[in-house]
Amino acid sequence: MFQNAVAHLDLDAFFASVEVLTNSALKGRPLIVGGVGDRGVVASCSYEARHFGVRSAMPVRMALRLCPDALVLRGDHDEYTKQSKLVTDIIDSEAPLFEKASIDEFYLDLAGMDKYVGCWKWSQELRQKIMRETGLPVSLGLSVNKLVSKVGTGEAKPNGARLVECGTERTFLSPLSVGKLPSVGRETYQKLSTMGVRQVGTLAQIPPRLLEREFGKHGISLWKKANGIDNSPIVPFHDRQSISTERTFQTDTIDVDFLNGQLTKMVGHLAFDLRSQQKLTSCISVKIRYTDFNTYSLQKSIPHTAHDGALLAQGKELFAKLYQRRQLVRLIGVKFSNLVHGHSQMSLFEDTQEASKLLQAMDKIRRRFGEKAVLRGTALGK
Ligand SMILES: [Mg+2]
Repeated sequence: MFQNAVAHLDLDAFFASVEVLTNSALKGRPLIVGGVGDRGVVASCSYEARHFGVRSAMPVRMALRLCPDALVLRGDHDEYTKQSKLVTDIIDSEAPLFEKASIDEFYLDLAGMDKYVGCWKWSQELRQKIMRETGLPVSLGLSVNKLVSKVGTGEAKPNGARLVECGTERTFLSPLSVGKLPSVGRETYQKLSTMGVRQVGTLAQIPPRLLEREFGKHGISLWKKANGIDNSPIVPFHDRQSISTERTFQTDTIDVDFLNGQLTKMVGHLAFDLRSQQKLTSCISVKIRYTDFNTYSLQKSIPHTAHDGALLAQGKELFAKLYQRRQLVRLIGVKFSNLVHGHSQMSLFEDTQEASKLLQAMDKIRRRFGEKAVLRGTALGK
């Protein structure tokens, strides 16, 4: 029986795995996702590339010396975000409480499930479900806390699962290299090496006061980690989702009035969606793609709102700043992000009570007769 149980899920070589998922011809090849320029660094690499010693954060030039056959890809962040969201949605639908630590890494609080065997079986099933539904490899660690679970996942990789039973944390960590502890960077690693400390077990036995003298505050945390002690809480994932819309025109255009009309419509639709979902946004971004496919976007943080007028004013301002090239435009897009739950009758912007009432009346008509029933003057187009 366990008081605490924390599962850690980490997608394996995430960016590289997504590349393989979207292009099966890349399967089995050494892949590097990263900057192609002279100073590019490896953001992610496939296990085939790791086999040659390629690692994340290494300069691409060095990686190519180690593995000259590796294929270097620029990466498609929109696709990575999309795949990450799919995984997040699966976890969200299954897990009682979880933290999204990064685009490809999650901690799940399973304290509610009091039988450890139950947690382990449940976590493994969740892992299988993620792989089945997304096609992406993911590894799993399960233990009493975040730290040990994360190290467990690291040991399980690639494509594996590791259970560290309660009470065996120190035994599990002891033979591992100190470099495997999270937050032990190169500098700390080298300093520990010169002290003759290479294994976690050795580090665990050094008096914490001594480590504090050598490493300051970090020393105490090193000692705790080496002993498998970690009380850090799981920070619940807030629905940070965004809503967005974009439009590609049948013919590229430089008609600013037309573009402004499109923007007005798009902002209106999105703001209506926000209000329907009882959400507010605090970040708006506008995107333009020119005829030569060069794409630019600008975003702005704003006080929380779901008000048409406020959002439209911000959207137009961003558009005016963005549309500087006076070239044919192929696509425009609008996105609201950092969404939170809330109602729109908040006078955060220039919203007057009359404006809010008008908005509510318009929404009522929209819900009854369809969204197109009410449009602002500028959205009617020419
Ligand atoms: Mg990962």
